[in-house]
Amino acid sequence: MDTPVCCICKTREAFFFRQYSGERLCKKCFTESIEAKVRSTITRYHMLNFNDHLAIAVSGGKDSLSLLYILAKLKRSRPKTHLTAVTVDEGIKGYRNEALEIASSNCKKLEIPHHIVSFKELYGFTLDEMIFKARKGGQTELTACAYCGVLRRKAINHGARDVKATKIATAHTLDDEVQTVLMNILRGDIARLAKEKPVTSEVHPLFVQKIKPFCEIPEKESALYAYVKKIDFQDTPCPYASGALRNDVRGMINRMEEKHAGTKFTVFKALERLRPALEETAKKEDFKVCAECGEPSALDLCKACELLRHVR
Ligand code: SF4
Repeated sequence: MDTPVCCICKTREAFFFRQYSGERLCKKCFTESIEAKVRSTITRYHMLNFNDHLAIAVSGGKDSLSLLYILAKLKRSRPKTHLTAVTVDEGIKGYRNEALEIASSNCKKLEIPHHIVSFKELYGFTLDEMIFKARKGGQTELTACAYCGVLRRKAINHGARDVKATKIATAHTLDDEVQTVLMNILRGDIARLAKEKPVTSEVHPLFVQKIKPFCEIPEKESALYAYVKKIDFQDTPCPYASGALRNDVRGMINRMEEKHAGTKFTVFKALERLRPALEETAKKEDFKVCAECGEPSALDLCKACELLRHVR
């Protein structure tokens, strides 16, 4: 049988079949297609101004490091754009230290400044300490991810402000976006569904605006990009990653994609079309400042301070 040839360059051997588009691609054309897609997403959603300072949320995993590499490449043609990598150290023993080292060495290689924000410094406890205290106090309803998700969002915002960034770039992939859409539907959370978008709205001056340049890149392709480019990333999972709702939704969507290629893009595009109507329906949140930490919050006490009260 003949070896399939790349359908773009028509010369090199194809190594990847993109099921949803029917393309067979060689390594070079595959990585170029990912970089081109990221550039077109940035343009379509008006993600960047020429003089933006981007804080790139880098966890040390495949997605965030692929994003770091692509944005570093993009920066070469945009001399006025500044990049700083921001990593949150939640304090997860046996996991986060390795990720921090990997993130730092990639930043050094790309000559991008690296800023670390730690839970311990910001909140007085590591995530391990919080979970230990919460469980000891009989708090069993909330998972580690429930604490981590809220506190990490706040920490990234802090980190971005520390380095005076104008925007935060996160490596949420198409899969992350589609999972979040379905999770919000399953929870009946229309307000969150409306807020889920490639560029967040500017709701308060203390919230740094977030952009998601990977929102149209399937997770499998972001991982493949990291492998082909030989990017060193952490592939050990977090010890707290558990059977949360997201894992069930991930499994369901992946099975659908396997049977009906293009399902993920269909869900993503459906939300794009529904968003204006959702924004009309969802109650506009009025932001004030949290009575405890002074950060913007829809309630008198922000979610992070509420969780920290539980811990204390
Ligand atoms: Fe945090 Fe959960 Fe992710 Fe671990 S798996 S880093 S605890 S959100």
